Amino acid sequence: MVAIYCAVENCWKSTASKHVFPNPAKNMALFKKWVKLCGNERLYDMTPNKIFTNCRVCRNHFEDTDFLANNRLNRGAYPSKFLPEVVDIEMSQLLENIPSTSKADGRLVTPVMTTCITPTAGKY
Ligand SMILES: [Zn+2]
Repeated sequence: MVAIYCAVENCWKSTASKHVFPNPAKNMALFKKWVKLCGNERLYDMTPNKIFTNCRVCRNHFEDTDFLANNRLNRGAYPSKFLPEVVDIEMSQLLENIPSTSKADGRLVTPVMTTCITPTAGKY
């Protein structure tokens, strides 16, 4: 049996009960919202279907009021607690405009030296 980890960044150790993502076929907007809130870059490389079948979010990220009496999530509920700082990505960009290794762009930019500081006689 494969252990299922919480999809939220830095929360894989959580032992709280896990909840599946919203079905992307039924509610893509809510699904994307979950993915965004998880702040987990690994999710961006996965297809919505794969996330839906393989990933879970643990109960720690939900309010008690997000749950129904039978311990299922309310329709429309989304993670709201103990979340990483989410990079502000437009939701429409998510999963369409997948960032691959955008962090590799940290090249040092050598400052352009101003060569023309010839001291001229101060005249107006
Ligand atoms: Zn968690």
